[in-house]
Amino acid sequence: MPIVRLPQNVINQIAAGEVVERPASVIKELVENALDSGADQIDIQVRNAGKTMICVRDNGSGMDKEDLTLSVERHTTSKLTDFDLSDISTFGFRGEALATISSVSRMSIKSWREHRENGWQLDIAGGEGFSLNPIAHGAKGTYVEISDLFFATPARLKFLKSNATELAQCVDISRRLALANHNVGFKLASENSVSFDFAQTDKVEQRIKDVLGKQDIGDMCSVDFTSSACKISGFCSVPTANSATVTHQYIFVNGRTIKDKFLTSAINVAYRELIPMGRYARLALFIEINPSDLDVNVHPAKTEVRFRRSNDIREALVQALKSAIAPYSSQTSSSLGHGFINKIVKKTVPNVSHTNGKENIDFEYSAPSPNGFVLNDISIDEAVVYNGNVARKATIATQKTTRDEGLFADISSTPLGSVLGQLFGRYILAQTEDALVIVDQHAVHERLLYERFKDKRRLNVQQLLTPEVIETESELVALVEENKSELAALGFGIEKLDENHLAVRYMPADTSCDVRTLVDDILVIIKDEKTESFDQVLQEKILRKLATLACHSSIKGGQYLSAERMDVILRSISSNRNMGQCNHGRPSFVKIFSQDIERLFLRQ
Ligand code: ADP
Ligand code: MG
Repeated sequence: MPIVRLPQNVINQIAAGEVVERPASVIKELVENALDSGADQIDIQVRNAGKTMICVRDNGSGMDKEDLTLSVERHTTSKLTDFDLSDISTFGFRGEALATISSVSRMSIKSWREHRENGWQLDIAGGEGFSLNPIAHGAKGTYVEISDLFFATPARLKFLKSNATELAQCVDISRRLALANHNVGFKLASENSVSFDFAQTDKVEQRIKDVLGKQDIGDMCSVDFTSSACKISGFCSVPTANSATVTHQYIFVNGRTIKDKFLTSAINVAYRELIPMGRYARLALFIEINPSDLDVNVHPAKTEVRFRRSNDIREALVQALKSAIAPYSSQTSSSLGHGFINKIVKKTVPNVSHTNGKENIDFEYSAPSPNGFVLNDISIDEAVVYNGNVARKATIATQKTTRDEGLFADISSTPLGSVLGQLFGRYILAQTEDALVIVDQHAVHERLLYERFKDKRRLNVQQLLTPEVIETESELVALVEENKSELAALGFGIEKLDENHLAVRYMPADTSCDVRTLVDDILVIIKDEKTESFDQVLQEKILRKLATLACHSSIKGGQYLSAERMDVILRSISSNRNMGQCNHGRPSFVKIFSQDIERLFLRQ
């Protein structure tokens, strides 16, 4: 078949395949145009989840006759004044959205410029020709109406999902756009009901509250971090206020809403030790980068970007989140324990009054502040005694305390008090002066081991009698050789033997796993990560692996422990940061305060 030049309309329809995936993508393009036009109020309306109709009205600059005519042609834009792709400050710049959308739908644009006698209306269907007519005078702005999306490309129509799914996408993108542009009023209506109506505000916190809800913002901490690579601000959830999906993660780079696996993985790293698997942090993060360090021309729908200093951005993000949640990492949501008691109280004593401020009693799922007290001559090593791998070193303070003297004798010696006993072979019960403490022994021990892997000063390594030789790809051998010292810092003595062989001389102790399996796993992590350098993310992943192994060798639930052993565990918890959760983010202990126990018995 001879080669032919494609008609412009077909070219546009092909481009539409990339730019316009679904009704939500149309909303995104039209709203971005409205934002670029300087509007401060944008109203969106959809019918039949946007399949039948999408309207976007703005009060921006509007277009006159000439611009309106050009706007629906491909590669026509008012936004690349110097044709400089390295410094883009508008949402649009490709000059193809209106052309591509109009090639797959029926489009009508009405637009009014300020101080003109009339406005103009352009109608175009399936990208074939168009009509342009004067219309009556109106307030400045533009009104774009898209009907019968994909009528011109029926194959595409078939790929649209149910109305519920498409509408959810429309709402999601509109909320994201609203979140990134708090100084613009946003309204979305579906059929005739209003989904949201956010008033213009000069406070980003207000918009975050509008979009995420007051409840959520209460469980969030603010992020404010500056590095040489970027500035990161916004809010992120405390670890326990997590969510089952990533839909509540809003990430903006220079005001653009983007979806980026690379940033999502950095978020996961920051929360990894604090949130259970399969759960996600809620957050709204605004990352500001020097435009010349950012390539926004990567994806036709502009939902992806490329960073020049990607590793620096990733590290900054991890650090920003970690420092924001650090004050909360040793305590979990206080509302959980309190809510629990409230439920019991409500169930058993329906008449009890919950007013007079009692709801505010802190029912903590918490560990004491890391710096808040001095540990009684017992360190984490003693907790590891029970792993069986380390020789016992310390005498235990409570050992001399006999039952007759009362186990309560040193009740105030540690923030978690003294041991009362063990419940179901799984929980350590303790009491402090004002609370009953229930400790999940497995979760806690697992965490103690993990913290030890993380603490390089305490890192225990196990020398191998004969080095283990591992055959692997030359690429990995080179990577390991390059990062020898970083691996050594994590407890791995691995070096290059030849192009395809590594020798392992030592490895972290306490992993109860054979060298080959462990090193193979670590190599897989290094390979998957494929970062240019051995950054914090990679390091965290390796620690995570060690943590899983630690988990396997931790004290199991269902294992009966002596009072002394339990006491050592309690003391070790108190000396460690992050002890509020196990490695999977479940709480490791719960405190129930005496006033609340009194409420159970109607004494208050
Ligand atoms: P881009 O936004 O990449 O420039 P589009 O095809 O989305 O490309 O829009 C083409 C041009 O039409 C824009 O550059 C702008 O000048 C004009 N335009 C589109 N929508 C509007 C609007 N709502 N208000 C004012 N001008 C608009
Ligand atoms: Mg545009």
